[in-house]
Amino acid sequence: MKQPEYLRTVQAFARRELLGKDAYLDSLAEAPLPLYERFAETGLANWWLPEESGGLGLGLEESVRITAELAYADAGVAFTLFIPVLTTSMVSWYGSAELKERHLKPLVNGGYAATLGSEHAAGSELARITTTARREGDQIVLDGEKAFSTNTGFANFLVVVARAQDDPAGYLAVLVPRDTPGVKVDKRWDVIGLRSSATYQVSLSGVRVPAANVLRGNGLRLLEIGLNASRILIATTALGIARRIRDVCMEYGKAKQVKGAPLANNAVFASRLGQFEMQIEVMANQCLAAARAYDEVAARPDAGEEFLRVGTLKQALTTKMFCGQTGWQIASAASEMFGGLGYTHESVIGKLLRDMRYVSIVEGGDDVLRELVFSRYVVPVSKRS
Ligand SMILES: Cc1cc2nc3c(=O)[nH]c(=O)nc-3n(C[C@H](O)[C@H](O)[C@H](O)COP(=O)(O)OP(=O)(O)OC[C@H]3O[C@@H](n4cnc5c(N)ncnc54)[C@H](O)[C@@H]3O)c2cc1C
Repeated sequence: MKQPEYLRTVQAFARRELLGKDAYLDSLAEAPLPLYERFAETGLANWWLPEESGGLGLGLEESVRITAELAYADAGVAFTLFIPVLTTSMVSWYGSAELKERHLKPLVNGGYAATLGSEHAAGSELARITTTARREGDQIVLDGEKAFSTNTGFANFLVVVARAQDDPAGYLAVLVPRDTPGVKVDKRWDVIGLRSSATYQVSLSGVRVPAANVLRGNGLRLLEIGLNASRILIATTALGIARRIRDVCMEYGKAKQVKGAPLANNAVFASRLGQFEMQIEVMANQCLAAARAYDEVAARPDAGEEFLRVGTLKQALTTKMFCGQTGWQIASAASEMFGGLGYTHESVIGKLLRDMRYVSIVEGGDDVLRELVFSRYVVPVSKRS
C-alpha cells in the first residue's frame, strides 16, 4: 500500500536527522531546538491542530502512525513533538475562540505547549495539588511549584492545573503565556532516557493572567481528557522502540557467531524474535484501535461535552499499560541477547531500554492506572463513587 505523504515526510525526516545519531541524541545537555525547528520546516509541526485553527487536522490514528515512525528513530524526539497534544486538546475543546485564535494558530508553524499538573507531594493524587489560583478582579493569580513539565523551558504557552483558592473542591486549568512574569524554570531534570526531550521543575510566583484564560470545566477533568490522546501516543512510542529493538537484534544476530554459525540461525534466537513480532503486532493493533476509539468521540459535533461526560477513555489506560509492560519485556529480553555488550554504551540497546522505561511511569504508573481501570470500568456502575 502506498504510504500517505505525511508519513513519507516523517520517514525522510527520521532518516535524515535521527537514524544513526543515537549517541548524540542520548547525550544532550540542552534540548536540541534547531533539530525541532527542522521538523517544523517539514510543515508537520503540531500536525493534529484542527483545520479551524489553520492546522492539518490529522486524527489520532494518523498521530499513532507518525509517532511510531519518530519513536523508531528516537523516542525523546517523538515525545517532545507529540506531547503538546495534551495541552492543545484542552484548549481546543474548552478554550474561548479568542484563546484559540491567539495561542493555537501560531503553533501551526512551529512552537510548543506544555502542561503543568504534577507536584512532588501530591504524586498521582492530583486532587491534593497545592498550586493555587486566586481571583483578583478580572485576573487570576497563580502560585505554586510544579514538579515535572515537558517542554516548559521553550514553550509558547502553558496550561497550569491549580486549586481554586475560593473553592477547596474546585480546580482550574489556566492558560499562561510562557513569558508571563513569575514563571520560573528551576531546573531541567537529568533523566535516564528520552534524553533529547526536556522536562523541567517550574515555580509559579504571583503569575497573573486575565480570568478569560481559564478553560471551561473542572481543571482535573480537563487534564484527564487531555491525557487520553497523549497516553495513547506514549503507548505508541513503546511500539516504535520495540520495532527498532527487533531490527537491532536482527543485525546483531547476523553478525554474532554461536557454535560456528550466525546467532540468527539459532532456534532460541528465532523463537525470541518470533515472540517479539507477535507482541509488536498486538501493540500496533491496540494503539490503532485506541486511536480510532478516540477519533470517534473527537469527530462528534458535541465532542467536548462527550469527553466531559466520559473523562478517561478505558482504551487510553489499557493501551498505555499493555504497551509499557510488553515493551519492557521486549527491551529486557533484547538487552540479555547482547550479552555483556548489552550492558555497555557500545550498543544502542541500553538507550532503547532506558527510553522504554518511561512508558510505564509518565502520565500515571501502572499501579495508579490499574486502580483507575478498576474504579472506572470494573466496579459496577451503581457502586462507582
Ligand atoms: C520524563 C517525564 C516527563 C513528564 N512530563 C510531565 C508533564 O509534561 N506534565 C506533568 O504534569 N507531569 C509530567 N511528568 C510527571 C509524570 O506524569 C509523573 O511523574 C507520573 O505520573 C508518576 O507520578 P509521580 O511522579 O507523582 O509518582 P507517584 O504517583 O507518587 O508514584 C510513586 C510511587 O507511589 C506508588 N503509588 C502512587 N499512587 C498509588 C496508588 N493509588 N496505589 C498504589 N501505589 C501507588 C506508585 O506505584 C509508585 O511506586 C513527567 C515525568 C517524567 C519522568
